[in-house]
Amino acid sequence: MAINRYTLQNFGRIFILCFILHFVYAAPLSAGNGSLTIKNRPLLHTFVQIKMESPDADKIIEAAFQEMERVNGLLNNYDPLSEVSKINAAAGIDSVEISAETAEVLQSALRVAQLSGGAFDFTVGPLLKAWGFATDLPGCEGDGPADQVLAKAKSLVGYQLFHVRSDAEGANKRYSAKLLKKGMCLDVGAFSKGYVADCAMALIKRNGVKNALVTAGGTVIGIGLKPDGSRWKIGIRHPRKADGMLAAIALTDCAVSTSGDYEKYYRKNNKRVTHIIDPRTARPVDRHQSVTVLAESGFDSDALSTALFVMDTDQGMALINSLPRVEALVIDHAAQIFMSRGWPQKNIVY
Ligand code: AMP
Ligand code: MG
Repeated sequence: MAINRYTLQNFGRIFILCFILHFVYAAPLSAGNGSLTIKNRPLLHTFVQIKMESPDADKIIEAAFQEMERVNGLLNNYDPLSEVSKINAAAGIDSVEISAETAEVLQSALRVAQLSGGAFDFTVGPLLKAWGFATDLPGCEGDGPADQVLAKAKSLVGYQLFHVRSDAEGANKRYSAKLLKKGMCLDVGAFSKGYVADCAMALIKRNGVKNALVTAGGTVIGIGLKPDGSRWKIGIRHPRKADGMLAAIALTDCAVSTSGDYEKYYRKNNKRVTHIIDPRTARPVDRHQSVTVLAESGFDSDALSTALFVMDTDQGMALINSLPRVEALVIDHAAQIFMSRGWPQKNIVY
């Protein structure tokens, strides 16, 4: 993958954050407990990092990066050869045969769309294009789309117009997917990194590793402990201070994802135009600065953080409080802080 300007900007930011975290949290590794191997790679148009404690760390980390590339090859809507791109290319024309894995991920994403009442909708591609976010680069400057352009794009968005089917049982089960209208377009940006991180962590566990941390864009998954016996600690970025932290949480056997209006945006008439679009209004969301979700899997934390970013704050919090082992921290547009009932860190400094 070519390293573009966006990737480099992200690298810069994340390295600064890692630098801060290093000084805040680095504890001396005690002798005899093994050592930590850390590797970074530009992947998935972002920054991917794996940390683990294992004598075979180099080999396992390399295999985990390859696993991430494999899964990205199925889902990445910017790669014309991916299964998702094939579904997009056949929109309104035909159904496309897809792997069981892609079918399962897309069915899970459909469930989140339903849970969120359509706030989370990965058929949002036409609206992202209309607002200038249909590339892996930051959005372009512009006057914003005309009303009729938005109305047309909105008519091409709706998860109910996307079907995933299976046509047999048992070993012969085959899966296909179809977008019902020409011009429709899936965008997996809200959950693909979380799922890719899950797959990397599954491979790491299959290799017998007990202590590891996988970071893919805004999603981090941790298992076990650091080599010194302390828990993995994750800094949650302050939404308005690029190198500042809002909170730090300990992460054991769970995933955390943050969605922020600062990730990818441009300014128009002194207003921030962010990359997360409310499919119900066809406009970029301006009710939240950042949303962080803790969950058992990277897919869940990633998908739900985007869902909550779009939903009304109260409805989003009610959803999170209704889900077992899921917690959220929401910062709204006015910098008000909302925490779900079991959010682990009660002292948030904005
Ligand atoms: P995240 O950073 O995980 O919150 O994902 C943001 C990405 O999700 C955007 O860059 C788009 O690719 C995509 N997206 C934007 N709006 C929505 C939406 N309403 N539902 C699902 N995906 C969206
Ligand atoms: Mg997300």
